[in-house]
Amino acid sequence: MSGAIKKVCVIGAGTMGAGIAAQAANAGVPVLLLDIVPKEGANRNAIAEGAVAKMLKADPAPFMSKAAAKLIETGNVEDDLARVADCDWIVEAVIERLDIKQSLYAKLEEVRKTGTAISSNTSTIPLGKLIEGRSDAFAADFLITHFFNPPRYMRLLEIVTGPKTSKETAAKVADFADRAMGKTIVRTNDTPGFIANRIGTYWLQVAVNAAIDLGLTIEEADAIGGKPMGVPKTGVFGLIDLVGIDLMPLLQKSLTATLSEGDAYFATVRPMPLIDKMIAEGYTGRKGKGGFYRINREAGKRKETLDLVTGEYRLPIKAQAPRAELAELIAMPGKTGDFAWAVLGQLLSYAASLVGTIADDIVAIDDAMKLGYNWKYGPFELIDQIGAAAFAKRLADEGRPVPAILQTAGDRSFYRVEGGKRQYLGLNGDYHDLVRAEGVLLLEDVKRAGKPILKNGSASLWDIGDGVACFEFTSKMNALDGDTLKLLGQAVEHVATSMKALVVYNEGSNFSAGANLGLALFAVNIAAWGEIDKLVTGGQQAYKALKYAPFPVVAAPAGLALGGGCEIVLHADAVQAHAETYIGLVECGVGLVPGWGGCGEYIDRWVKSGLLPKGPMPAVGKAFETISTATVAKSAAEAKELLFLLKDDGITMNRDRLLADAKARALAMVDGYAPPKPPEFRLPGESGRVGLNMAAQGFRKRGLATDYDMVVSDALAKVLTGGDADLVDVVTEEAMLGLEREAFMSRVRDPRTQARVETMLETGKPLRN
Ligand code: NAD
Repeated sequence: MSGAIKKVCVIGAGTMGAGIAAQAANAGVPVLLLDIVPKEGANRNAIAEGAVAKMLKADPAPFMSKAAAKLIETGNVEDDLARVADCDWIVEAVIERLDIKQSLYAKLEEVRKTGTAISSNTSTIPLGKLIEGRSDAFAADFLITHFFNPPRYMRLLEIVTGPKTSKETAAKVADFADRAMGKTIVRTNDTPGFIANRIGTYWLQVAVNAAIDLGLTIEEADAIGGKPMGVPKTGVFGLIDLVGIDLMPLLQKSLTATLSEGDAYFATVRPMPLIDKMIAEGYTGRKGKGGFYRINREAGKRKETLDLVTGEYRLPIKAQAPRAELAELIAMPGKTGDFAWAVLGQLLSYAASLVGTIADDIVAIDDAMKLGYNWKYGPFELIDQIGAAAFAKRLADEGRPVPAILQTAGDRSFYRVEGGKRQYLGLNGDYHDLVRAEGVLLLEDVKRAGKPILKNGSASLWDIGDGVACFEFTSKMNALDGDTLKLLGQAVEHVATSMKALVVYNEGSNFSAGANLGLALFAVNIAAWGEIDKLVTGGQQAYKALKYAPFPVVAAPAGLALGGGCEIVLHADAVQAHAETYIGLVECGVGLVPGWGGCGEYIDRWVKSGLLPKGPMPAVGKAFETISTATVAKSAAEAKELLFLLKDDGITMNRDRLLADAKARALAMVDGYAPPKPPEFRLPGESGRVGLNMAAQGFRKRGLATDYDMVVSDALAKVLTGGDADLVDVVTEEAMLGLEREAFMSRVRDPRTQARVETMLETGKPLRN
């Protein structure tokens, strides 16, 4: 390989270019971001600079940290193009116009060094056209890298190479995009719309048509076409609102101009006067005045939905998502079944007809739809749910063409498990093992291949090889309860006697939402205070056993790690976190204080950080500030700033590489491992508590905190300052746990805390009482 990628240049600082630049900076490499010189104004770099400034304010944030933003240098294509000479990869993300892209490449050919990869983010232009007129050396370094919006959060990257693209260049870009930028690479052929947008656009089109033809309301269409099909709950109309209604005719124009005659897509295209009118009047979706759904600000932020027949807005009409297996869903009488079949019959046969054309296998198509459109299942996984033979039969019965791959499948399924391995059906009719990339270890595969070492209703312990065990939460939202803690205790004993190290990890969308509040509330309602006390003590003991176990423990969170989910991370010897980890001690939000050792662990981190002035108060103050405001880090990088993660903790950008990285880290700690020494705290006691309460009063005066927030933060202050400690005394870890328990029990008995918990469980939102 001609060297790794150490510097990236992105040309075009629009929606995509800016987002790609941010993700490359999140990967830790310097980035040069160029755009054109604006027609007006003295600042020749204003467009690229403006893009960075805008991203610093955007929510969801394109940057994982402020430090990442500092890695971007800005410039313009007139003055700074020669600077691409020190870049190893140039990403072109200028507007979708062939002439502009081609003339930019002609200039780049003059200034880039040979071996610098160049890729286009084009959505629609074939690779061959893009490099017309360029040298062979240029063509060898050229490929298409099609990112999805927003580039930080969408995991899919479609890569297209041409006949002249060097394998080395393509591998270099793919490797960087995968490991450093965290993308999952799907190789696709050079066909219009590649995989995800080709199928995605068709899907949106057939669903809108079917909803209109069958007389469904928008709510009905999104209820049937959302969750039951494993599609995000935005459904079809909600998704079009999100991406922009004005994009629909643009996509349509581009696909009709480029697809070959006879493509099933053409049959879906028809005049859409309603949509034309919406766009003309500025109803372009969420970014415009509203879309199929809108918030009517003139009517007190009232939610409204468009009536597809009259074209007028009306109040929402709730529609229930049908609870049925797919095979039942498409067979239901009436418009539910008719709509489901209209969508799935067309969508899935279109996807099936394209395998071999847009991609070499069904896996690429399934992966692209799952990662590019956030579908839970890919098209072939959906066909398996219906049954390939049953699906083909219905097509044939209706006189519709049956795609070749369905005939190849016959009465078999597209995926199967053989000898504990997942296999997929190839174009040749044989099954092939699903091979993971080197360095990818998935618990999903481990689970398919064997049985857990230990298991109960809330957690499992797995052997992930080389003497390393994996502790997995398995409850709903990975909420932690007595069973989780019980199995954790057993897991520690098992690993201590028969294995080398433990990784705490799971493949849920969130690592853990924290302690199971539903159970806690149930106990409150029957005044089972003893049970609650047992849960608090049980958690403290289990986490302490984990911390002082005679083997290394690595926590590997991804997604939310809140409350008790954060506390288990704080008790590990090391952390390997996915870059998209959102961690925090959020207990105060529901009127509680961290009760499973979080307070002591968190103060200890600040004390040992060396980042604060000497004396106990600065660390206590930092802990108070973060915990009383229920602050959650919005990335693993931010978690390091907040010390939920430590300097030496690892961050893995690619979700699929997290377990392998965590396991390697645990194994590296085995030799010479010794458990940590218990911390000894010097805490300010009563006087510190008064100080913290004064700070909280400031919030109260500014209207940022309620009266009850004052009560909760005082309970927290009492723990963090060591109760009636005195600076000359040492407060032991045990004493801190006692204070936590006392504070937790006092708050959980308060009806105002109970009201907060209840609201959180019902609405998922905090109650500000
Ligand atoms: P955009 O309109 O937001 O940004 C384009 C930027 O390119 C503008 O800032 C413009 O000033 C700049 N530009 C124009 N000519 C230039 C030149 N000669 N040199 C340097 N900069 C120049 O567009 P976008 O949505 O970011 O799309 C960029 C590319 O990415 C297109 O090829 C598009 O098809 C593709 N794409 C877009 C999306 C999406 O969701 N928006 C998704 C995937 C791919």
